[in-house]
Amino acid sequence: MVIKKYTSMNTENIDMVLEKRALVLDSMQNMGHEQVVFCYDKKTGLKAIIAIHDTTLGPALGGTRMWHYNNELEALEDVLRLSRGMSLKAAISGLELGGGKAVIIGDSKVDKTESLMRRFGAFVDSLGGKYITAEDVGMSTKDMEYVSMETKHVTGVAENLGGSGDPSPVTAFGVYMGMKAASQYKWGSDNLASRKIVVQGVGNVGENLVKYLKDEGAHIIINDVNQDRLSYIADKYEIEIVLEDNIFDIDMDIYAPCALGATVNPDTIQRLKCHIIAGAANNQLANESRDAKLCADKGIIYAPDFLINAGGLINVYSEIKGYDRQHALNKTKRIFDTTLEILKKAELDNITTHQAALDIAESRIIAGK
Ligand code: NAD
Repeated sequence: MVIKKYTSMNTENIDMVLEKRALVLDSMQNMGHEQVVFCYDKKTGLKAIIAIHDTTLGPALGGTRMWHYNNELEALEDVLRLSRGMSLKAAISGLELGGGKAVIIGDSKVDKTESLMRRFGAFVDSLGGKYITAEDVGMSTKDMEYVSMETKHVTGVAENLGGSGDPSPVTAFGVYMGMKAASQYKWGSDNLASRKIVVQGVGNVGENLVKYLKDEGAHIIINDVNQDRLSYIADKYEIEIVLEDNIFDIDMDIYAPCALGATVNPDTIQRLKCHIIAGAANNQLANESRDAKLCADKGIIYAPDFLINAGGLINVYSEIKGYDRQHALNKTKRIFDTTLEILKKAELDNITTHQAALDIAESRIIAGK
């Protein structure tokens, strides 16, 4: 029996593929990526993309996201954007790491199998440590266990397997430090007692942030699209709720986006009545330069997301170096000083806070080159 390995491809198909490849290379050139690896496995149906953004400072570290993307282009855009963010996050946090990210295209609720995860692990392993993976949206501790059966280049595994476990508490601590630094800059005091703070998204990071804020006596208001979760956290910490539609219209001192990206955009900036934006979500600005400028023009202090949400990355970095939770927290605490330094630099150089953070991260990478 002849096993058909390749399906026939007509010239039109080849043209289309070449056109897409040019698009990928153009995007890589524009965003500064070193390598993008497309992974396909016929047996398991695995379709994944691994993006290595920059390895000047060390191996590219970043989580694997499993998501039901509408098409491959969406997956590609996501992985390119997220991996670049990881390079900036590692650089500004002073870590010996580069930036990378992986996406598995599929529905995490129905498409997961042990063999698919292990095949993905084998692809990660084939990169010989140039890319180190971790858990991200749509992946579970169990999935990471399967991945780690095929490669040692995995971080953030469960504590009972010798890893550093859930990074969310450390991420929340970093966000809390960034928020305090922004308060110090704005009001001359980092004390958050009685400050009115809206936390959007009370998942793993959001809840841990709420704990810190509650302990300090802040006036916390929360919102979450998951009504059960929202009621649970509101009852547990005895805090107020704001409806999703009103979140950008109420008076507040600090807006803390801890759910999705792109919540800071021309529409919301125009509505927001806050002095500071400081939260955990990745890619909070829908359009980095435009929206950072709009915030600055309105007098809103934006604490750059890739700086203040780096606690989780610092935590997994410690795992590579030999895990010590206290050491990770001490390093994360430095986010306070770095945030303050960046806010002052932005004022001095008359640039946005986002640009100031970007300049510092990029200059460290360029110096490394
Ligand atoms: P999570 O999934 O545990 O929590 C997110 C919460 O946001 C959920 O409760 C969800 O219901 C809610 N949500 C989703 N869409 C919403 C919306 N439109 N409005 C209000 N709430 C909404 O995720 P997490 O681990 O807490 O991470 C939160 C954010 O921080 C994410 O953007 C993540 O990428 C980022 N982040 C997380 C870490 C980490 O260590 N977990 C590190 C860096 C960045």
